[in-house]
Amino acid sequence: MADDDGVSLTDRVAFLDYLDNNVVDVLSVPGLRCDICTITYAVPPAAAPPSDIVDSAFHHDLQQEGGHEVPVHLPCTHIFGRDCIITWTTESPTCPMCRVVLYSTTRPGDTFGDIARRRNRESLRELEQQRQRAALHTALRAHQAEFAARQEELMREFETRQIRERQQFATQFVHLEEATRQDVARATDHMERAIRQTYSMSGELKVTRQEFERVRIQNRDRFEELERRLTRERLTGNIMRSLSAMVFALAILTTALMLHRG
Ligand SMILES: [Zn+2]
Ligand SMILES: [Zn+2]
Repeated sequence: MADDDGVSLTDRVAFLDYLDNNVVDVLSVPGLRCDICTITYAVPPAAAPPSDIVDSAFHHDLQQEGGHEVPVHLPCTHIFGRDCIITWTTESPTCPMCRVVLYSTTRPGDTFGDIARRRNRESLRELEQQRQRAALHTALRAHQAEFAARQEELMREFETRQIRERQQFATQFVHLEEATRQDVARATDHMERAIRQTYSMSGELKVTRQEFERVRIQNRDRFEELERRLTRERLTGNIMRSLSAMVFALAILTTALMLHRG
C-alpha cells in the first residue's frame, strides 16, 4: 500500500517485480476489461499467479494468444492490464485512476551517476524481459508448428490405416463371398444328388413292386397249376382205385364162376 508521501516502491525494477507477483484472477475484475485500453481480458485456462518472471512472461504470451493482456493490481489496489500500465508508467510513475506515485524515480542523495545506473539497470531488465518473451514466443510458435505437423502426420497415418483396413475388409469380404458361393454350390450339388437318389430309389421301388407283383402272380399261377394237377391226380387216383376195385371184383367174380363151373 502507499506510504504517506504516496511512494510505495523504491524503483521501477521493484515495481515490475510487484506487477509480476500481483496478477489478478480475471473473473474477479469488474467488467472483465482493462480501463486503459477498454479491451476485455482473456480468461486464462488456469488463473494461478505466476511464481517468477519467466512464468509471468509465458503466461502473458498465452493470454495474448487467446485475447488480451493479464490484469494486475497496483499498490493503490487499482487494476489495469499489465502491458498498458507498464507503457503508461514509462511516461509517469503514477496510477491513471488515483494519481498516486507508484515508485520513486529518484532517491534522496542520489547522484546523477546513481540515477543513470538505475535507469540503465531498468532498461536492461526490460530488454531482458523482452528478449525472454521473444524467445518464448518463438518456442511457442515452434511448438505449435510441431504440434500441427504431428497432428497432420497422425491424420495422414489414420487415413492411410483406414483406407488399408477398408481394402482388407473388402478383400476379406470378397473371399468370404467366394467361400459362401462355393458352400452354396456344394450344398446345392448335395441336394440335387439327394433328389436324384430319391428319384432313382422311387424308380427302384417301382421296379421292385412290379417284380414283386410279377412273382406273386407267377406264384399264384404256379399254385393254381399245382392245385389243378393235384385235383387231376386225385381224380385219376380215384378212377384208378375204382378201376382196380372193379378189376378186383371182376377177378373174384370170374374166379367164383370158374369154381362154380369146375
Ligand atoms: Zn489495457
Ligand atoms: Zn490507483
